[in-house]
Amino acid sequence: MTTAHVTCPLCEATCGLEVTIDEKSLVTRVQGDREDVFSKGYICPKGASLGALHHDPDRLTAPLVKRDGKFVEVTWDEAFAEIDRRLRPITDEYGKNAVAVYSGNPTVHNAALVLYGRVFFKALGTKNFYTATTVDQMPKHFSSGYLFGDPQTIPVADLDRTGHLLILGANPLVSNGSLMTAADTRGRLRGIQKRGGKIVVLDPRRTRTAQLADEHHAIRPGTDALFLFALVNVLFAENRVDPGEHVNGVDEVRVLAEPFTPEAVAPATGIDAAEIRRIALELADAERAAVYGRMGTTTQSFGTIASWLVDVVNTLTGNLDREGGVMFPLPALWRPRRSSPFTSGRWTSRVRGYPEVLGELPVATLADEIETPGEGRVRALVTISGNPALSTPNSARLTEALRQLDFMVSLDVYLNETTRHADVILPGPSPLERPHYDVALYALAVRNVANWTPQPLETDLPQEWATLLRMAGIAAGQGPDVDVVAFDTMVAGETARRTGVDLSLAEGRTGPARMVDLMLRGGPYGLKLADLEAAPHGIDLGALKPRLPEVLTTASGKVELAPDAITKDVPRLRAELDKAPDGGLLLIGRRHLSSNNSWMHNLTPLVRGGNRCTVQVHPDDASRLGLTDGGLASVTSRAGKLEVPVEVTADVRPGVVSMPHGWGHDADGTRTRVAAAHAGVNSNLVADETLLDVPSGTAVLNGIPVEVAPV
Ligand code: SF4
Repeated sequence: MTTAHVTCPLCEATCGLEVTIDEKSLVTRVQGDREDVFSKGYICPKGASLGALHHDPDRLTAPLVKRDGKFVEVTWDEAFAEIDRRLRPITDEYGKNAVAVYSGNPTVHNAALVLYGRVFFKALGTKNFYTATTVDQMPKHFSSGYLFGDPQTIPVADLDRTGHLLILGANPLVSNGSLMTAADTRGRLRGIQKRGGKIVVLDPRRTRTAQLADEHHAIRPGTDALFLFALVNVLFAENRVDPGEHVNGVDEVRVLAEPFTPEAVAPATGIDAAEIRRIALELADAERAAVYGRMGTTTQSFGTIASWLVDVVNTLTGNLDREGGVMFPLPALWRPRRSSPFTSGRWTSRVRGYPEVLGELPVATLADEIETPGEGRVRALVTISGNPALSTPNSARLTEALRQLDFMVSLDVYLNETTRHADVILPGPSPLERPHYDVALYALAVRNVANWTPQPLETDLPQEWATLLRMAGIAAGQGPDVDVVAFDTMVAGETARRTGVDLSLAEGRTGPARMVDLMLRGGPYGLKLADLEAAPHGIDLGALKPRLPEVLTTASGKVELAPDAITKDVPRLRAELDKAPDGGLLLIGRRHLSSNNSWMHNLTPLVRGGNRCTVQVHPDDASRLGLTDGGLASVTSRAGKLEVPVEVTADVRPGVVSMPHGWGHDADGTRTRVAAAHAGVNSNLVADETLLDVPSGTAVLNGIPVEVAPV
């Protein structure tokens, strides 16, 4: 028996786990690492399933190439030769933009994909770049980019020291924190209450977080921006504004907030004006308070304004960059400092003219780009750890569009609803067959920590960084047999140059280990990889510290509280005040502790229990519509229609129905037997690809107008 200490790469919480492996390389136990400096023994059902994921017999272990409509296993050289043979003519004839990329959510949890994906993307040079960010958190990047100068400079709630937490559209008890890396969120939230603090939740659904909270207000979906503007209005009206010295634009915000009185927003939000006023004043009165918003605030029509207003309220109440407020983490890895402030709209999508954000176009328009003839049409697609056929709006349309591609390559561990359309599938190792450092998420951690995972188990599969370098070689016109060792050294040399670290200090290392070593050495704590290798439970770098104004990269060097790119969208929100709710049903999402988007449904331990893929309906609506608990309902929107079992529950607000996403595993040609046996229904069949948060291009997944009827 050996025990490996690994950082769980399955969600943003980055828990430390203890994995027991027997002499036959079988994972016999996975448990929380009590000595982990961050998670202190916490584990959730997903983390406990790491062994099941590793041993999943459906996980691909060899490259697949489609021949005569059927996948056959081939050697790696044959697979790369096929990619070179098919991809090159497309770029030669139609240009680089004819190849699109879709990068899925697991990418961000994988050091190799984060560090080497960018090498491949650069070599590909396409402007048709799509990720799961535009069905997730892009509004937060957008607003942070304009407020603080860098879209990755995102303040997080200082959970361990705050005394008052206002949560909007987030369910951290089951997500375990998102855009807020916080292992054992339940323990940390309870800590607030034990300190005598208060948690207030606004959510159309009485989530597990809402059940734990001191107060829950069932806000109407998509109206968080109105509610937040009313808080701002009250703060100014009651003279409770204290933004500090590093802030521009406070007067502009005051003027913008004038129409959004509590009385004006009450009908649309469904929250009583007196309650809004009280919530605002309690926030202002709290010694240490933080506002935190997530999916319900980002994947909706006013995602950017809501994300912006979360930080406007934090700033106006004096809680930005304050202990117990919201703070900027200082991760251990070197991070480039922007030389110019963030801007968006450097190019637009060909068909609908959506602006680029963070180098990405909205994935909601990917089908347009594939289907619409003309110069610049997308003819080939590379997917990386993504399942857009399930996870993007109007997925039936995207599925049809995927069939029209001339060529498709997928880097993925499963033959799933998306990769079944690929011509070549390149599998990667399991999370226990690769080394890991959480390159992205420590930048959002509620405490500064660093933890390295050495590769626990050997594998015959190439590491993904090597696969991506071979893909980059093909994309750069070097053919399928690029010298991976030399290429890796070149990439590391560039990182050494940028970090100002001598490359020879990382001698003897390759791939992500060398990159992480260089970035640690060039980082703010001067660590090196050997330090982390000697600390299997991680290194605690301390509580968050104030970082203003050093963290700002705006042109003014101040927080720009009223940037034009965001405030120009306020009239669209203002128009909402004149609209009365039409009485129609609005569909929202929901998340479960044992589920992570679409990609963990093939693990028996995580699909046990009853069917979780139901449409939740309030009893009043059920009775009005003739729906019965356990019966079947049709859900219809402009985009499509589906049928799903009904769950009648008072946990959803009247007028709101809720479905989880990531289900719908009943497609032909997949190889995920457990998921197929627990197929569920894909909620994105009714998500409307034409409904977007305008500035960020993020899909509206919460607040979709639908009709529900008994089947
Ligand atoms: S909370 Fe997230 S990081 Fe922690 S064990 Fe569960 S899946 Fe892994």
